[in-house]
Amino acid sequence: MTFAIEWAGPVSACDVCQRPLADEPGFGDAEVPGTGGSWGLLCLACCAAAGVRWGWGAGQQYERQEGGGWTLRRGLC
Ligand SMILES: [Zn+2]
Repeated sequence: MTFAIEWAGPVSACDVCQRPLADEPGFGDAEVPGTGGSWGLLCLACCAAAGVRWGWGAGQQYERQEGGGWTLRRGLC
């Protein structure tokens, strides 16, 4: 399997700490624990602090690509 799922579109800032995600090695598109099911874009530090679960329906982690763009790293299943 050689396909890669890529994040389409811009990334803004971490919804928790407001750190610009463009400067991070990766980010999570995830359900934020304790929010009653609200999703956000979180930097990896906030994902870890919040206890984000990686999985379909829970959270996807994207990793920065050399040359730009983001590919799915965790959370497909
Ligand atoms: Zn953050």
